[in-house]
Amino acid sequence: MRYCSTRGKIHGLSFTEAVMMGLADDGGLLLPEKIPVLSKDELQKLSELPYPELAFQVISRYATDIPAKNLKDLIDRSYASFEHPQITPLVKQDDLYILELFHGPTLAFKDVALQFLGNLFEYFLLKSGQRMNIIGATSGDTGSAAIYGVRGKKNINIFILHPQGRVSPIQELQMTTVLDDNVFNLAVEGSFDDAQSIVKEIFGDLDFKERHALGAVNSINWARILAQVVYYFYAWFRVKRETDCSGIEVSVPTGNFGDIFAGYIAKQMGVPISRLILATNSNNILSRFINDGDYSTANVHHSLSPSMDIQIASNFERYLYYLLDCDAEKVVQAMDKFHKDGKLSFTDTQKERVKKEFASSSIDDNETIETISTFHKKTGYTLDPHTAVGVAAGERVRNTAYPLVCLATAHPAKFGDAVKKAIGSDPDLPPAFIGLASREKKVVTIPANMERVKKFISENAI
Ligand SMILES: *Cc1c(COP(=O)(O)O)cnc(C)c1O
Repeated sequence: MRYCSTRGKIHGLSFTEAVMMGLADDGGLLLPEKIPVLSKDELQKLSELPYPELAFQVISRYATDIPAKNLKDLIDRSYASFEHPQITPLVKQDDLYILELFHGPTLAFKDVALQFLGNLFEYFLLKSGQRMNIIGATSGDTGSAAIYGVRGKKNINIFILHPQGRVSPIQELQMTTVLDDNVFNLAVEGSFDDAQSIVKEIFGDLDFKERHALGAVNSINWARILAQVVYYFYAWFRVKRETDCSGIEVSVPTGNFGDIFAGYIAKQMGVPISRLILATNSNNILSRFINDGDYSTANVHHSLSPSMDIQIASNFERYLYYLLDCDAEKVVQAMDKFHKDGKLSFTDTQKERVKKEFASSSIDDNETIETISTFHKKTGYTLDPHTAVGVAAGERVRNTAYPLVCLATAHPAKFGDAVKKAIGSDPDLPPAFIGLASREKKVVTIPANMERVKKFISENAI
């Protein structure tokens, strides 16, 4: 399998090269040159496999330059860190299914991809004798999932900047109680935007970047999308066991368009997903795109589902590439226009095509709380605010001819305040959180100053 960029200047990369490149050198995003399609018979053969074996069957079609034995070992190790034997169990509640993606070490769905990416990086680095220093800024979820993905790994150090006192207490504890030698938490005296712009500036210093072999784990890495494709297969096989149906709809709480794009790939591969339901909070650029063909930025609002508080969805360009019939020249023009005008427009034919593949609804904070509360009264099951956005959107726009699967992207205890507001009591703490506050911590406070951060990295880089 070879990889190319959505902007047309990069071709013929191996899987290893695509993963190590991350963002394509021409500014685009990397995609497989051809998506493998599985026949009904091939799907049937995969339908009873346990999660790690299914993951191997899906991923090995893309990671063709890793020997099967090594890939299998990497995948097994990635999912051994999950608390649930089924990895991503499917549960039926009321008249819908919930695919629980939060049984990994940081209790959010990003673990599914980052546990795999961490092992993949280590494997490539050990093979080539190279090293990598990962740098990132986080407002919560991604930073902790990245830290747990690479903690204790060889040839990798990780530096995660978070705004001091401005991430949720649980998220802060998840990061700072990791004591491995290769993990560095920097509490920046400033806002998330300060932390993020420091990281961007550091990456802009190409000399520094090369000297310290800087790397990133952001959501545009193809390996992250690939790992997420697997659970769409898994969900379909599990629903199919319980009901006789010709397909499913899947509702996806969406921010950067990574998770739902994985669903789009699964559909191309043959998983009968009738429509993907794209659920947004009040940051609704993607809902406006699907419902009205209006892709235009607005200000970011803070919501009760903070991991979906985005306006520019970094993976959207991958879908755009397919919508523009894989014409890289058109993608370049569209992205230029978007950069200049802050918006894109689409033809009627394109809008129709989008509506065949997706449905969408935007759910505000009041509706989110209402959904957690109503669902809890009806079923006894507690949704986290991100999952609640997906459930509310799914219930609103679903086609009842198909079973509905809602992706549960975080454990409710991670967002205890919002949940308490909805159901009147704190959600149960999972074992991973008990006693977290009294553990030893490793964190360095640092001013919001790029030179100081660079100095720290220079002194501690591998
Ligand atoms: C990151 C995240 C999302 C959004 O996923 P995207 O791939 O960015 O669309 C949804 N819910 C939670 C809990 C997340 O951490």
